[in-house]
Amino acid sequence: MSGHESGINERQRQSRFERSNDVVVMKFGGTSVEDAAAIRRLIAIVQSRLGAQPVVVVSALAKVTDQLLEAGAAAATGHLGAALAAVRSIYVRHEELADALIDGSAYSALDGELRGEFRALEALLHDLEESRQFDLKSQDHLLGFGECFSSKLVTEALCQAGVNAAHVDARTCIVTDARHGQASPVWDVTEQRVQDTVGPLLQRGQVPVLGGFIASSFDGIPTTLGRGGSDYSAAIVGAALCAARIEIWTDVDGIMTTDPKICSDARVIRKMSFDEAAELAHFGAKVLHPGTLAPAMREKIPVYVLNSKRPEGEGTEIVGRARTGNVVSAITARKNVATVEIGPASGIDSERLRAVYAVFDRHSCSVDEMTMSLGRISLLVGSTAALPVIAAELRDVAEVRWENHKALVCLVGENIRRQPDVASRVFAAVSDMDVRVVCQGTSDRTISFLVEESRIEESVRRLHAVFFPQSEPARDWGGLSSAFCQAG
Ligand code: ADP
Ligand code: ASP
Ligand code: MG
Repeated sequence: MSGHESGINERQRQSRFERSNDVVVMKFGGTSVEDAAAIRRLIAIVQSRLGAQPVVVVSALAKVTDQLLEAGAAAATGHLGAALAAVRSIYVRHEELADALIDGSAYSALDGELRGEFRALEALLHDLEESRQFDLKSQDHLLGFGECFSSKLVTEALCQAGVNAAHVDARTCIVTDARHGQASPVWDVTEQRVQDTVGPLLQRGQVPVLGGFIASSFDGIPTTLGRGGSDYSAAIVGAALCAARIEIWTDVDGIMTTDPKICSDARVIRKMSFDEAAELAHFGAKVLHPGTLAPAMREKIPVYVLNSKRPEGEGTEIVGRARTGNVVSAITARKNVATVEIGPASGIDSERLRAVYAVFDRHSCSVDEMTMSLGRISLLVGSTAALPVIAAELRDVAEVRWENHKALVCLVGENIRRQPDVASRVFAAVSDMDVRVVCQGTSDRTISFLVEESRIEESVRRLHAVFFPQSEPARDWGGLSSAFCQAG
């Protein structure tokens, strides 16, 4: 952000949203709104925060985004019947929830709204069938329906429970660039619109409810913030309102030493730094969208990751500075990485290098790591779909070859790279695997390496066993690997 922009923000903040205010942004993920029991838990959690000024951000009901994606793909390949049947079942699911949670005229009004939205969704599927095109722009339009439905449903369910909730269409206040599928907020406009839209509701004592993930470009075309983007929405709204805290309510007890779906003995990390959590998210820990920490960090807003099924738990607190020292805090991994080789040896100068980068950038193909030797460029890229098109575009500049199905395994911890024996312990643990590239990252906080995608879970399990042996206490984990400290 430029100095000019931060000057504007500071004035706005002082005049309208003092840091001392009590806003708490509460984001509930798909499993936290998956059925009537989950929505009742959400209501109880929101009611427990009414002493503050809660703002609620909700994801689509669990699995709905994937189902919409499949329906769109089906329609665009001529299987309109299957697509319509899929959205019909999504509609029925919402209807049943509305029926279970909401009575009388409120139910009828919501039902009318949902029916209207579903007619628009069906019309979109017809268009896709006709055009046989399902590009990122129409994907954003289609996927946004999931958060639209869930946010309206949750608003009415809160009202039914006596909470003075008000629905806010996030697409009217989160304004992004037009990078469909992975849009970024235009900060000043978004900040102003969130303040103008959500601020008055808070002043009237209402509880604003927004769909996460969804936004729109300057010209009002629907965009999304990328898969898992509701976390990011919560952070954007929190930063715009100078919230006192941002709470990410999910289906695990907090950020853990690794994905508990891979290692059942993963432990909760009680406190981490923004930087560590951001690295973890960047390297694939699904629990947080990678964009989430930047707005919170910028405004110094603590982020809490909490379990909506066990709201009494302490969760993980993410703050500016957590306990430092030579530690391994967590292990994560990201799939769908490819190694790319660009040659020939004599042809790459700085101008060509810029051209090469521009092509990767234009196709939203994020480059994780780059090395250059004897005019050959080696890249690690984090999305592989666009590689054939990129190779075709660069045909006249250089030959592009790649290998898919790799995964980056990453260890995160403050000062991890300053520990002389972390790397040797890591490589001893995976010495029989085909470890290709070792990345030291741009900070002292990560060590990562590349393995075949098929070995991802095994390598994570082995490393977890080394750095978080089972004899350690199962909870109250402070992010400090004592096993590592003793050995180090
Ligand atoms: P939500 O729908 O609430 O956004 P997600 O499925 O996006 O939830 O994220 C929660 C999931 O993230 C957990 O169920 C867990 O499997 C996964 N996960 C991956 N890495 C971690 C980690 N280090 N700590 C906790 N959860 C993790
Ligand atoms: N519903 C969206 C997704 O599944 C966004 C989110 O859940 O955060 O990716
Ligand atoms: Mg998520």
